[in-house]
Formats: sequence, C-alpha cells, structure tokens
Amino acid sequence: MSFFKNLKEIYKKVSEVENIVYSGKQDYLEIYERNLELEKEIEERTRELNIANKRMLTLQHIWDMMNASRPLQSVLETIVNSIQGELGYLHCNIIKKFEDEKGTYMTVIAQSNDISIKRVNKLIKTPIQTRKLVYDPSSVYAKSASTKEIVLTLDIGGTLKSVVPDVPDEIIKEIVAGSPSKSIINIPLYSRNNHFGWFNVFSSRKEMTTGETDFLTMFAQQIEMAITIAGLFEDVKAQATTDGLTGLYNRRYFEEYLKKEVSRSLRQKQVFSVIGLDLDHLKEINDKYGHAYGDLAIKTVARVLKKNARSIDISARMGGEEFNVILPGIDSSGAFIAAERIRKALEDETLETVGKITASVGVATFLEHSDNIEDILELTDQAMYQSKRNGRNRVTMAKPISETSWQEVAVNTFIDILSKHNIPIQTEIAEELKSKLTNPQNEIHKDALYTVADMLTQIYNPLHHSGIMKSKVLLAVSLAKRFDLPKEEIDNLRIAMLLYDIGNLMLPPELLQKPTPLTEEEKNHIKEHPLIAAREILEPISNVKDIIPIIEHHHENWDGTGYPAKISKEKIPMTSQIILIVDAYFALIQPRTYRAELTPKQALEVIKQEAGKKWNNTLVQEFITLVDIDT
Ligand code: GH3
Ligand code: MG
Repeated sequence: MSFFKNLKEIYKKVSEVENIVYSGKQDYLEIYERNLELEKEIEERTRELNIANKRMLTLQHIWDMMNASRPLQSVLETIVNSIQGELGYLHCNIIKKFEDEKGTYMTVIAQSNDISIKRVNKLIKTPIQTRKLVYDPSSVYAKSASTKEIVLTLDIGGTLKSVVPDVPDEIIKEIVAGSPSKSIINIPLYSRNNHFGWFNVFSSRKEMTTGETDFLTMFAQQIEMAITIAGLFEDVKAQATTDGLTGLYNRRYFEEYLKKEVSRSLRQKQVFSVIGLDLDHLKEINDKYGHAYGDLAIKTVARVLKKNARSIDISARMGGEEFNVILPGIDSSGAFIAAERIRKALEDETLETVGKITASVGVATFLEHSDNIEDILELTDQAMYQSKRNGRNRVTMAKPISETSWQEVAVNTFIDILSKHNIPIQTEIAEELKSKLTNPQNEIHKDALYTVADMLTQIYNPLHHSGIMKSKVLLAVSLAKRFDLPKEEIDNLRIAMLLYDIGNLMLPPELLQKPTPLTEEEKNHIKEHPLIAAREILEPISNVKDIIPIIEHHHENWDGTGYPAKISKEKIPMTSQIILIVDAYFALIQPRTYRAELTPKQALEVIKQEAGKKWNNTLVQEFITLVDIDT
C-alpha cells in the first residue's frame, strides 16, 4: 500500500470517529473503545510507514502522546523538533491562525529548539513565540492559505518583516545576513476542513525536490492529524454525558436535563423532587485504605442509585462524592421515601476491606419548597448538610425558603464554621459552643447566638466586653429600619453583624494584642487579612453567600478612601456602611491598650467629624439621633 492510501484509511477512520462524536448519541466509553480499535489500526499502518520512511515521525508516537493526555503543544513540539536537522532543515515552526473582531493574526504554537531561533530572538528582543504576529494579506502566509499549496520563498527578510513589522529593517538585515537559511518552505495546515495555520521549514537550500515536497506534505498531514485528534478528544470530552468512573450522568447532563424538567414542570404544573447525596467520611476511607477503595465506595453509591431508580429518574455524579437524583412527578413525601430507600440500600451494602459505608441525604421539591430551581438546589444542599450535622447516615427534608429564619442561618453557619475547623480554637471550646447552639429539641434561643458570637469574638479579642454583641446587632438593625431596608436585607445585616469580625479569628493573637504601635506591614496585614480570611471561612458555607459582599465592603469609606475595592457613595452597600459606623462607635466607647475609652458623647463627636468622608451625612444624622435616644 502507498503512503497516501494508508493515510486515507486513517482519515476515513478519523472521520468515522468524528461522526460518532457529532451524532452525540454514543457515550464516551463506546467512543473510547472505538478509539482503541483505531489505535491498533494506526499502529499497523505506522509500522508500514516506518519501513517506507525511517525519518518519518510515527503516528503511533503521536497517538501515545495523545493517550498520555499530553497537551497538543508538546506533541507539536516533538514533531517540529524531530524534523529539525533532517534534510538540512535549520528551524521549523507551527503557526496558528486566529480571528477576532479586529481581524486575523497569528501566533507560534510550536517551534524547534535550535540555535537559529535563539539568535533571532536575541536580536528582536521580544521572543517570536510570545508575540502576536501580523497576518499580511500579501505575505507567503496569505498566498499558501489561498492556494492551499506549499510555497517556497527565498525572501526570508520580507517574510519575517511581514509578521513582525515593528522590528527595524537593520535588525532584519542582520538576521538574514548571519543566517545559513536560504529559503522558507511554507505549508498551509488544515484540520477538519478548516484552515488552521502553517508549518514553516527554514531550509539551507534554495530549492526543493519533488520527493521533498511529498515528504513535507506527509509530514504536514501528521501535524494535521495530531491537531484533529486533539480537537476530537476535546469534543468527546465536551460531549460526554456520563461520568467515567460510575457511568452515571455527569454534572453537565444533569444541569441540561434539569432545565428541561423545570420548564416541563412549570408547564404541566407538576412537581418534581431533587435528592442530594454525599458520601460520609470518604476522606477517611481514602486515608485508611487508599484511593482505590475510595473509588469503590463511590462506585457502590452509583450502583445503589441505579438499582433504586425508576427508568425516568436521572441519577448524576455531580463531582467527587456528591450525587443528585431528579425524580420527575414525585412530591416531597414520595421523594423522602425514595431517599430513605436509597440510604438504607447503601447501608445494607458491605464492601470488600472497607466494610460499611453510609451517606447523608437531603431532599427538596420543586413547586413545593420553592419555584426557583436555584433555591431548590440550595435547599437540597442545606438539607444534606443538616443530615451531616445531625450525625450523618440520614435523610433530611428541606424547609420552604420562607421558614428558614436568619437565626437558623446564623446557627447553622456557626456550626459549620466550628465543625469545619477553619479556626484554631480549642476542641473543648468548640464542643461547648456547639452544644450551646444545638440545644434542646433543636430550638434556637436567640440569645445563644449572641453568646456564641461573643465567645468567638472574645477568643480573638480578650478586650471585647461580653454582651456587647447583642447591643451592636440591635443598634445596626434599628439604624437599618430607619432607612426602610427590606426584611431580607435586615436579616442579612443581622447575620453579617454576627460574623463580620470572623476573619480576625485567623489573625495571630500577638498582633491583636501588641502593646506597641504596629509597623506599616503589620497594619496592612491587619487590614487585608480579615477580609480574605472571612471569604475563606464563609465561602464554603452555602447559605451565607449573600453576606460575604456586605462583610467585604464594611471598610469602604463614603469618599472612596476605604478598602479593599475603594468604592464610594451609593456603590457601597447600605448594610456595609451601617456595620462600619456601628463598629466604629463601639470601638470608640471601649478602651484600647493604647487609649482610654471615650464617652458616648465624645465618640459621637469623632463620628461627626468624619461625616461626608468616612460615612454618608444622612447616616451620621440618623445614627446620632438613634444613639442619643439610647443613651
Ligand atoms: P463528610 O462525611 O463530612 O462528607 O466527610 P468526607 O470525608 O466525605 O468529606 P470531605 O468533603 O471532607 O472529603 C471528601 C473527600 O473525597 C476528599 C477527596 O479527596 C475525596 N474524593 C473526591 N473525589 C474522589 C474520587 O473520585 N475518588 C476518591 N477515592 N476520593 C475522592
Ligand atoms: Mg463526604
């Protein structure tokens, strides 16, 4: 068989794979198996190719690298490096074409690593591979792209100048004069019928033989093959609907399906439920028995889900050890039964070596708990975490969104913070706090919140007076009410008031209690760290997402001189301004290591002085009348 016939065969196979990809029906595993078949075939063809031309880079080589999931760039680099030095080729590169709103440009995506390019880069200062190259419609690039033919040019200087017109002519001349290159052979590259870019060879000869043209054409085809295969791999990955480890649907498919289910549900006024499941203590299984047994646990969950699902249920692995099931047409009581059945079935499994595994489950129902799907997913998640908090291996039904009070959010947040051990507090203190929060019959005493907030604050700031938290929150809420903030915002403010200092927990105590003035560096650390830390602590806690921006901006000044975003006026959330002023007031009326406390009157004077600068004038006026009544 001739080379071309061989290559044609391979291209036929590639286009077959392409069809499979585009039909989108076959799943990833099937395609993968076909790829393996194809791989075998390529291996055979490659051997033939090798016999015919030893100099040729083998397809097998490319294929191996693809399978090793090496990025396309490294494959292409291997290719160009392998041809450099052959047949008197001094330098080779692959250039990719890009189109944007300003037009066409090009960049080098692979080049051989040789002395010629080092010399050029030294002379032109900015290395060629880091530049955006100019696509000149009168250059050899345009010519080869339009004719789809190999072009040989002797005008090395002109070709170089066309892509880097900013490089002075003297430099171009110097490059050409000192280079052994006599010609550039420019070959246009195509991938799946689209012009991709060019393969350039800098030759030490002025002409090229017919055999050489064939050789370079074949070589270019190998490059095209690598590019095409890489593209196909990307497509296969992007189009996959199932998860490789478990065969369950993946997140992408789940999300797509969910959208359809929502519109169907709204149209037909029919509910559906979502079950969220998270394996318990997977980290421990991994640590104790190794990752393979962790995987076994994950696969067991998948098997249980499949076995217990109806044909119309959609079970998906959302990532890691997190699974979701959509139950079309099932209301909350039905979904609870289904979830409980799944939980029990998992509990009944016994795994090799690992033994028993369990999962924590949450359930929410669309149109019952909320008619907003984002809320439903959030509620499912919250319910699942509730199961974790209550001891794992259980199912929790979501509460309708309106019933989740701010106190509950705050309690859950504190428990999350404590149980996630983001903060270096003693275990006994953590346990004590936890027991305070999860007190009898799960009923939340409002004051327990303040006590916990107070205790947390005391841990990082022993100067903090106990009981102050409640006054702070009450003052902030009264102030917010004067500005007619909506209930949700006031609720968010309450929680933010309990949490805004949380980031300080991660500051070293030595710094907070330092008796001598702080250095500039320490000041900056104190300034920036808590905001970063607050985000770090709070971000994983899904139900306080709305609180983070409030906390993040509670050091912004009205005139834009604050931090971190330096925003000003109405751009600052009203709630953040309220925290700033309340916090300042309470700081002033408390003693500090470096100053005595101020009287409320004195404190108000200080605040007044900064009206229009640190805080809005109206806010100051309202604050003063409020405090005057209080004191
Ligand atoms: P919890 O009961 O609170 O859920 O504890 P956990 O250990 O299951 O949860 P955590 O979120 O602390 O840890 C999850 C672990 O799951 C960490 C991660 O290494 C592991 N994991 C995630 N994906 C995989 C996977 O595909 N295979 C294996 N073996 N482990 C995974
Ligand atoms: Mg887990």
